[in-house]
Amino acid sequence: MDQEFLIRKIEKYADQKGIPIMEKEGIEFLCEFIKLNKVKNILEIGSAIGYSAIKMALSSEDVTVTTIEKDKDRYIEAVKNIKKLKLDSRITLIFADALDFDIEEDFDLIFIDAAKSQYIKFFNKFSKNLKPKGFIVTDNINFHGLTYSDKTKMSKNLRQLITKLEKYINFLNDNKDFKTRFFEIGDGIAISRRRRKK
Ligand code: SAH
Ligand code: MG
Repeated sequence: MDQEFLIRKIEKYADQKGIPIMEKEGIEFLCEFIKLNKVKNILEIGSAIGYSAIKMALSSEDVTVTTIEKDKDRYIEAVKNIKKLKLDSRITLIFADALDFDIEEDFDLIFIDAAKSQYIKFFNKFSKNLKPKGFIVTDNINFHGLTYSDKTKMSKNLRQLITKLEKYINFLNDNKDFKTRFFEIGDGIAISRRRRKK
């Protein structure tokens, strides 16, 4: 089966099962960014069913992706999808909770797309795995337009999540070591890079 067809199938599956894969414009933007900046190795936190890892790996033949997923069923589905697309040599899937998992390698790009309430933790934990000129990309900064919106009508859980995301945005804005740019693309994307030492 051809690549495009398999990818459409993954998108459909995600839609039917309510799996929050990246929005189309968001993933296209990220893939362009990867090509433009000649990114070679990527660490992804939150694989779900492998969609974004597959798209990133397909953006250029010399891209490799290491991706971490803690949900067993999604991990199994991701393994299947990556095999179908014959990308097992370039995508390494790890079944683990990223917060309990340590990795030695340093990466050109770290893509944070797992539990939104833990974003600060992911950022702090994995920034040590970033090459000096690498990028940390974060998805779902806008969370369907809910960050910085009126919270009075939200459920308690949603309100807590949005509050945490807002804390993350403040954390990025106030960060002394990293400079962040925010893009109103897809569900909102942040790209952070180390500030140059003075
Ligand atoms: N990047 C994917 C979508 C990821 S959805 C894509 O665009 O195709 C977020 C995923 O992060 C979920 O599948 C969830 O199970 C996983 N996740 C949440 N917290 C995690 C953690 N601490 N470690 C690993 N995976 C986590
Ligand atoms: Mg996302």
